[in-house]
Amino acid sequence: MRVFYRSIDSVPILIFFIVHWYLSLFSQSFFQHRYSAHGAFKMGPRAEKFFFIVAYVTQGSSYLSAKVYALMHRLHHAYTDTELDPHSPAYSKNVFDMMWRTRRIYLDIWKGKVQVEERFSKNLPDWPVVDKLGNSIISRIAWVGVYVAFYAAFAPSIWWWLLLPVQIASGAVHGAIINWYAHKYGYINYKMRNTAQNLFSVDVLMLGESYHNNHHKYPSSINFGRRWHELDPLYPVIRVLGWMKVIQLKQPALAVAHSHDHELEHDHHHA
Ligand SMILES: [Zn+2]
Ligand SMILES: [Zn+2]
Repeated sequence: MRVFYRSIDSVPILIFFIVHWYLSLFSQSFFQHRYSAHGAFKMGPRAEKFFFIVAYVTQGSSYLSAKVYALMHRLHHAYTDTELDPHSPAYSKNVFDMMWRTRRIYLDIWKGKVQVEERFSKNLPDWPVVDKLGNSIISRIAWVGVYVAFYAAFAPSIWWWLLLPVQIASGAVHGAIINWYAHKYGYINYKMRNTAQNLFSVDVLMLGESYHNNHHKYPSSINFGRRWHELDPLYPVIRVLGWMKVIQLKQPALAVAHSHDHELEHDHHHA
């Protein structure tokens, strides 16, 4: 097949795909998830604006409003595996069905058709100009145009275009991997009354997000890893940004790590 015939031809698309995967996932995990939804760390208004722009540029066609994401995600933690969970494998036929449902709820909240309880809407980062731009059809289509232009210029064969939908919907794809698969498959460190599991034992692909059992146990921890092999690639990034004073970490991480280790042992004894 020509796809494998001159593999050097596929380098630009591969690099584009991989870089986009990790940059858009970085924004989702760092900004929308850990910061907006869970307040795992704080940042000033200038840093917040900077990461709003980073999110807009890296997520492009699948840009997620930090405010809407955080609201939905807080609902997910409060109502995990129930009918009020915005995305639960238990209430969807398949992963695409769940993605569609998640999209509908996102749009309903974005358009103000659904009111979310006040206790979920505290401390939400909001920059209406960027949110309006990122959520506009024109912006989404323009970004798709950018991706299509890249594929038109560099795709060595028609097969490479199969990657394009993943890039167009990257935010939804990242969400679905965790919200569907990490609520169905994996291993657990903590026994809880929900289906959250650690999908991978070493998670480089999802930047630590796949330690979902750990995350449901300690939602606002800056380190999603708990056991020695559970490396969270964003944890050192967060520590460095804290050290650089770009963001403010809440408590000394050593004390957090210590208390978590203690509780981890404790949970194992009772498992
Ligand atoms: Zn979950
Ligand atoms: Zn979470």
